[in-house]
Amino acid sequence: MASQHPIPFNNTFARMPDYFYSLQAPTAVSTPESLAINHDLAITLGIDPDWLASPEGIATVAGNYLPAGAEPLASVYAGHQFGSYNPQLGDGRAILLGEVSTASGHRYDIQLKGSGPTPYSRGGDGRSPLGPVLREYIVSEAMFALGVPTTRALAAVTTGDQVVRETLQPGAVLARVASSHLRVGTFQYFSAQKNVDALRSLVGYTLQRHFPDALNSGNDAQALLRCVIKAQAELIAHWQLLGFVHGVMNTDNMLLCGETVDYGPCAFMESFHPDTVFSSIDQGRRYAYRNQPGIAQWNLACLAQAVLPVLADNEEAAVAIAQEAVDQFPGLFMEAHNRGLSRKLGLIEATDEDTALIEDLFSLMAEAKADFTLTFRHLADLAAPDSDSAKVGKIYTPPQSLAPWLARWQERLAADDVSPADRQQSMYRANPVFIPRNHLVAQAISAAEDGDLEPFHTLIARTAQPFTYDEADQPLATPAQADEEVRQTFCGT
Ligand code: AMP
Ligand code: MG
Repeated sequence: MASQHPIPFNNTFARMPDYFYSLQAPTAVSTPESLAINHDLAITLGIDPDWLASPEGIATVAGNYLPAGAEPLASVYAGHQFGSYNPQLGDGRAILLGEVSTASGHRYDIQLKGSGPTPYSRGGDGRSPLGPVLREYIVSEAMFALGVPTTRALAAVTTGDQVVRETLQPGAVLARVASSHLRVGTFQYFSAQKNVDALRSLVGYTLQRHFPDALNSGNDAQALLRCVIKAQAELIAHWQLLGFVHGVMNTDNMLLCGETVDYGPCAFMESFHPDTVFSSIDQGRRYAYRNQPGIAQWNLACLAQAVLPVLADNEEAAVAIAQEAVDQFPGLFMEAHNRGLSRKLGLIEATDEDTALIEDLFSLMAEAKADFTLTFRHLADLAAPDSDSAKVGKIYTPPQSLAPWLARWQERLAADDVSPADRQQSMYRANPVFIPRNHLVAQAISAAEDGDLEPFHTLIARTAQPFTYDEADQPLATPAQADEEVRQTFCGT
């Protein structure tokens, strides 16, 4: 028998003033069928996975059924897209069903992506093709397993309807979960509207929801700005440490809670090069790997600008507070990046004296086009070469040019009082061996388009354990062969 409250909704955003959103139900689809159900995440959210996999659960994800307590709405926001301001974007193909709060007190949005038009669709169909839904499912769940703050995938369904893009494609819907979908662009929208009441209530709401420890500092807007800047500095450092290129770091794609969002043209680098860009639409290379920290700071300056009216009573004081907060970004980023790099290199703490060692590694990797992920994993193997862990030697040979560097690194390791076995274990936890490589994602999507979901499920299962190598899964850890390489990705909206 169907439960009366299969999703334990407990909504707060729907209690905010109505100018924050438009009430909007999903538009039903023809014949929903399950692609994937995230069992563990369902349990975390207090949802019975068996219900989610039942016809009623699938109908819910498809937008064909509204469980009790859902208050579907589309939120409004603005944003700088590739540097140009768009005064009104909003959830054009996403609908917030509602929120749940877990036993541990954490609150999550449950959103349907691809669930039909909203007042913010701007001529779009509000739909999503199968490919982008599977890509987001794979990559967001891999990011979670890698320990990166991220939105997650609760479930995905096909709709039975075709979506018109350059070609006709099968339609799909993703149920996405985030600590909230409030973004830099949400503040920008209300700031441009000169709606100071909205800015004030949004500051209070966001601080209470995401950074409650920072309440009662005497200046909520300043506290929020500082918290978001710190969370983003840590997030971007995490991306850099994994060779992750987001691809579309518009201000509407930067969440205030500090989770990665919008898995459009994103990709993990294989051959390392700092100028790497995958997105087909990023002609100016604005969102290249090496630019990500600078772009994040630029976006955060937009946030600071947007909250100026509520930072202080007069503009001069507000600008000073905003500037002080934004200026913290480079230091916070460097600190997080350095901490992560120390772990990746097996050092207790990389100091200024290690700068040359680190820079030389990246230069050598770039020159040799070395695989980012396996180069670091190989270092972990070398930390205790005789240990009985499975090593990547069969799928990775370090470039010859790295040999002198490896000797310098080994010498540096000797200065730290850590046993090789402990160092190796800690390095294994910082250097994944399984990432969703682009060609594997592409293969999984194309098989699914032909009705074979097995590669998709295999990839999800393997990338859920990114730090543990098993030679049986060697093909899933191996870089693309020249003829498999995917150099360009598409938003696929
Ligand atoms: P994105 O590039 O995914 O961040 O999307 C930018 C804006 O375009 C957001 O407001 C989306 O909701 C909207 N959008 C993207 N694709 C569609 C679509 N197929 N239908 C309606 N709106 C869309
Ligand atoms: Mg977006």
